[in-house]
Amino acid sequence: MRASLCAVLVLSVLAVPGARAFEVRALLADPAASSPITAADPTLRDALRRIARGSHSWRQALERLAADRRRIVVLTPDDVVVQTVDSRVVPFEPTAIAEVSPVADASGNVSVVMVVVNVAAIRAVHEPHGSLPGEIDADIERILAHEVYGHAVPYLEAGHVSGRCADPGPGDDVTSACAIRRENIIRSELRLGRRTDAALGSLALSRLLPR
Ligand SMILES: [Zn+2]
Repeated sequence: MRASLCAVLVLSVLAVPGARAFEVRALLADPAASSPITAADPTLRDALRRIARGSHSWRQALERLAADRRRIVVLTPDDVVVQTVDSRVVPFEPTAIAEVSPVADASGNVSVVMVVVNVAAIRAVHEPHGSLPGEIDADIERILAHEVYGHAVPYLEAGHVSGRCADPGPGDDVTSACAIRRENIIRSELRLGRRTDAALGSLALSRLLPR
């Protein structure tokens, strides 16, 4: 399991034929989709529903995105491939927890952001330890709070890659970093604890990882 919670990668929806990839391409291509945030995976869909129910700030942000016809598509690693800096195309890193990828045009304009959450990797850490479903759900909500509200929403509110909301750098005050500050707004409204570190320490799964 990688220590960092997320990085910004160039993700492409899988080019190989398959029902899921087709469904995801359809989600990305449909400008009339009714919700500004969509997920094909049922675990992610349920988590998005719970967050929307419990968080006023989340609901407000999504209403603004809907009005601007801007979209977030939440995916699992099975739905994407990763384009590396040297233009190779590789599978999603199997131990990475989550990534965010703005879909930018040649001028850097962004109206869709893809978020990938590695539900299988999160379950693989929890399940051998007998975690309760609620503990796994809470970690998925914390990760979505970070990736969606911390990273995806700022890109879309700016409508441009310049809207990047940063993670803390080495030596930075973690709770002042843009993405952590925003994540903690949602955590507070959902009573999911406060994040105070740059790694995975505030996820329940961090206690289960081998040391
Ligand atoms: Zn981040």
